[in-house]
Amino acid sequence: MKKHNFYAGPSILSEYTIKHTADAILNFANTGLSVLEVSHRSKEFQAVIDEAQALVKELLNVPDGYSVLFLGGGASLQFCMVPMNILSGKAAYLETGTWAVNAIKEARLFGDVEVVGSSKDSNFSYIPKGFTVPDDVDYFHYTSNNTIFGTEVRVDPDVNVPMVCDMSSDIFSRPIDVSKYNIIYAGAQKNLAPAGVTLVIVKDECLGKVERAIPTMLDYRTHIKKGSMFNTPPVLPIYSALMTLRYYKERGGVAEMEKIDLKKAGLLYDAIDSSKMFEGTVSDPADRSIMNVCFVMTPEFKELEKEFVDFCGTRGIVGIKGHRSVGGFRASLYNALPIESVEVLIDAMRDFEKAH
Ligand SMILES: *Cc1c(COP(=O)(O)O)cnc(C)c1O
Repeated sequence: MKKHNFYAGPSILSEYTIKHTADAILNFANTGLSVLEVSHRSKEFQAVIDEAQALVKELLNVPDGYSVLFLGGGASLQFCMVPMNILSGKAAYLETGTWAVNAIKEARLFGDVEVVGSSKDSNFSYIPKGFTVPDDVDYFHYTSNNTIFGTEVRVDPDVNVPMVCDMSSDIFSRPIDVSKYNIIYAGAQKNLAPAGVTLVIVKDECLGKVERAIPTMLDYRTHIKKGSMFNTPPVLPIYSALMTLRYYKERGGVAEMEKIDLKKAGLLYDAIDSSKMFEGTVSDPADRSIMNVCFVMTPEFKELEKEFVDFCGTRGIVGIKGHRSVGGFRASLYNALPIESVEVLIDAMRDFEKAH
């Protein structure tokens, strides 16, 4: 049976990415060797990392003066690496979910953190509005897509200071104005590649200003200087990332991805809103994520939630159980998810509702 993969991360990758990665595991760039066993210093792998960096710059329209890095440690390492490298005095953070909370905790190890807005009071079901970012902070940090709670900031905020953003779960789903950011980071396992690599886009000019000593491996300048090859980089995930980047380019780039993503999410939110059995956990349409759609059963049907997950299983739908901190369901509609999978899920919701 065809599977419809709604996992939140690691998550669906395009068939293009998986097929070409599988090919390279058998024979990488006609070397007669597997990509798993070639030197990262070989000219064939150097070509991979060069093209991947160039495609990130092209797809996201990265201006001059920024470096593109492929690092280890996941997005979670960036929670401490960002403040270690660029927090001298004070930083402003927006508290919109579990990942933001984790980022705030790490930043406090390095300086003052002002939480300028929080939606903790309602289990992170909205994006705080009308907050003020003080002018005297080194940067403003936010999480563009709150993977667990299904909220998203889909327009680059307007603030008077440089921004830092955790774009782990919605990078490449819309055009962004990189010039507003000092650092953008994203764990690869949601919209790019298998787990194991983190994409970091950093403005060179913001580095070298803190007084603390930074361990070599945690200093962005080390990795910039060595072209992401200071130590052995995660070779396989970088190769897969290149395949995904080629695929995005072939499909018309991020503006095209956004159109399709909006359409997929629109279909599912409409189905949820027009149902008597299901309801969304994020009520303001402006705050609703187009990557992770969170919904629950209305109180009247609540006890059927487990049964619905099992029912979905009979239709090949996997990974829609909600995160334990929200409950219900979460359908992750990353770029690689075909629209047919959304239609299969909507049919399952309608058929299940009819049967009850
Ligand atoms: C998944 C996720 C993370 C954690 O990523 P790791 O690579 O596992 O550290 C951080 N932030 C967001 C927004 C995420 O979706």
